[in-house]
Amino acid sequence: MIDTHCHLTFEELEKDIEAVLERSVNAGVTGWITIGTDSEHNEKAAKLAQSHNNMYAAVGIHPHYAKNITARDIEILEQLATGEKIVAIGETGLDFHYNLSPAQQQKELFIKHLEIAKKLNLPVVIHSRNAFDETISVLDDFGSGIEKVVIHCFSGDIQQAKVVIDRGYYVSFTGVVTFHSADLARDVVRNVAADRIMLETDCPYMSPAPVRKQKINEPALMIHTAKFIADLKGIDFDSFAELTTKTSKDFFNLS
Ligand SMILES: [Zn+2]
Ligand SMILES: [Zn+2]
Repeated sequence: MIDTHCHLTFEELEKDIEAVLERSVNAGVTGWITIGTDSEHNEKAAKLAQSHNNMYAAVGIHPHYAKNITARDIEILEQLATGEKIVAIGETGLDFHYNLSPAQQQKELFIKHLEIAKKLNLPVVIHSRNAFDETISVLDDFGSGIEKVVIHCFSGDIQQAKVVIDRGYYVSFTGVVTFHSADLARDVVRNVAADRIMLETDCPYMSPAPVRKQKINEPALMIHTAKFIADLKGIDFDSFAELTTKTSKDFFNLS
């Protein structure tokens, strides 16, 4: 399987990266897309992917940082995005939960990412929190030319999932679906076609049940989320693993 959204350059994981990857491979998670969140991590993600088999990177600037971004940062991002193992633009989007940057600046930065993705023909990894309608309206207003879109750590309801799927987009789920409080996410999982689902850890955050107490989440633990979702959908684990791996490879154009 492929962990389609992990932050392997974050200190908690990076300092022990070879052991983290070994545990991941042993658990059956043998591919990774490490996601950049700012200029420093984009650079690191590109380098880490260069030096590891089956590892790829996405580059983007998280909406949290929108207020500090200059035109030069966007140039650097676009340049980096042309790199060999860069398979997507992101994470980008809107976060009106933390509101660390003004909404207008978040939107402008999001659109800049869409422009780069369109130009380079790359899929887009979207972070959307408390901003579902606004996220969709930015995408709708942008129009055509974006190759593929995934809403990561999907936290919407069934109706919102339908809006996403109807546009041909994908959803990816983290270990949050295994949490006691996540009835809504489980309803969504049951309702979305299995071939529109991808899996992710979003590590180092949010370990899935039954290992929620593990402070630092890591790709090996995605196995719990995968089993949980396969069960929810009544698909045998091997078939589900195979299907989501195929979906992820097609989405990110991996060989
Ligand atoms: Zn995110
Ligand atoms: Zn993330």
